[in-house]
Amino acid sequence: MRWLGPRGIGFRGKVEVQVARGSGKGCRRVKCSASGDTAIVVGAGVIGLCTAVRLQESGYSVKCLAENIGGDPNQGVASGGAGGLWFPYLCESTERTGRWANETRRAYEDILSNGTKFEENGVAVKDIWQCYSPADEIPPWAGDCPTFELLTKSQVEEKYYPHKPQYEIMENDFLAYQFQAPIVQVDIYLSYLRRLFTSMGGELVQHRVDGPIEALEADVLVNCAGIGNATHLQGLEQDALMKPVRGQIIHCKNREHITEAVTIGGDGESAYMIPRGDVIVYGGTSDENQWDLDVDQDAVQDIIRRCKKLLPEAYTRDMEVVGHWVGLRPYREQGVSVEARSLEDGRVVVNNYGHGGSGFTLCYGCADEVVRLASERNA
Ligand SMILES: Cc1cc2nc3c(=O)[nH]c(=O)nc-3n(C[C@H](O)[C@H](O)[C@H](O)COP(=O)(O)OP(=O)(O)OC[C@H]3O[C@@H](n4cnc5c(N)ncnc54)[C@H](O)[C@@H]3O)c2cc1C
Repeated sequence: MRWLGPRGIGFRGKVEVQVARGSGKGCRRVKCSASGDTAIVVGAGVIGLCTAVRLQESGYSVKCLAENIGGDPNQGVASGGAGGLWFPYLCESTERTGRWANETRRAYEDILSNGTKFEENGVAVKDIWQCYSPADEIPPWAGDCPTFELLTKSQVEEKYYPHKPQYEIMENDFLAYQFQAPIVQVDIYLSYLRRLFTSMGGELVQHRVDGPIEALEADVLVNCAGIGNATHLQGLEQDALMKPVRGQIIHCKNREHITEAVTIGGDGESAYMIPRGDVIVYGGTSDENQWDLDVDQDAVQDIIRRCKKLLPEAYTRDMEVVGHWVGLRPYREQGVSVEARSLEDGRVVVNNYGHGGSGFTLCYGCADEVVRLASERNA
């Protein structure tokens, strides 16, 4: 029998799995290479919960351990306060992130057709519009996104600046496009994932893991602890490539019932807005290596100034601030860590952390990759 690790957290040998595969709303994976195998996922943000769900659907018996299991955005869980927009941001722009993003978008589409309502799952598909001037590169996910459409300068101006053309796109030096993609109401969605996971027999346990994940006992150990892997926190992996990118946002009343998300980069500045139920999230800031979680009032004023300067006038009238949030994006230099290693006793450790500003955009693609890696090594 393997060592159980601190406070007996783990599984004793193989367990008899009674996973209701294919049952529970939203469960679509029916692959099983792991019957009886056990997995521990550390972290219960969007990355940990999606990974735990996918492992459970694939036949593992899964425990999810986290210092904060409730997704409280004020207790160091970035997922609990995020904008919830499907859009790769602050992660490497490569073929693999493009692929994970499109896999995740399709997974949200599956949720939309699984019979659960928005009030239960928090997922909705909305119109999204982006414009960068000077021009950015066409993103790697665009080719596989069926609704992706490039916009001309006059289309942008006519549609978004009919009355107040305060934002001038540089002639011949801009990239503008629109597409449809999910915007997730993060609190509802995290609750949905927790319910889905436990309804399939998964166990959620509040527990802080200090030191290496190898001390835990299961056939597969998955590290989804986000910024909890930074050296600064003396937490799990102590990965020197992990650093926070502090983000501050404001919430304003959504008086006009706006449903469209917009991001503009221009004139050396940027601004974005994401409609989320009764509020619009306006942003934002991206400060590397800043750990301070206090609301900075100067930053609030600057966000309002940039939004009024760059976003369509109709979307920034009467910005009544009703809330603030500061979070730490778990950013990893050299890219997201989704990789596996085998231990001498046959157990498998898989990393799934460092998603920067894209946790909700990459979550299912990365979770499926974890299941693949774990199953290959654990065969
Ligand atoms: C202002 C802002 C806006 C954002 N908007 C978007 C957006 O619109 N779209 C998007 O895709 N992304 C967005 N993001 C990024 C997104 O929030 C993150 O990429 C995502 O939340 C990361 O998820 P995670 O599960 O890795 O980390 P987290 O959500 O932080 O979860 C980490 C988990 O690990 C646990 N943990 C940590 N250390 C330990 C330990 N030692 N032992 C046990 N448990 C531990 C924590 O308790 C928690 O449960 C935004 C981020 C910010 C700050």
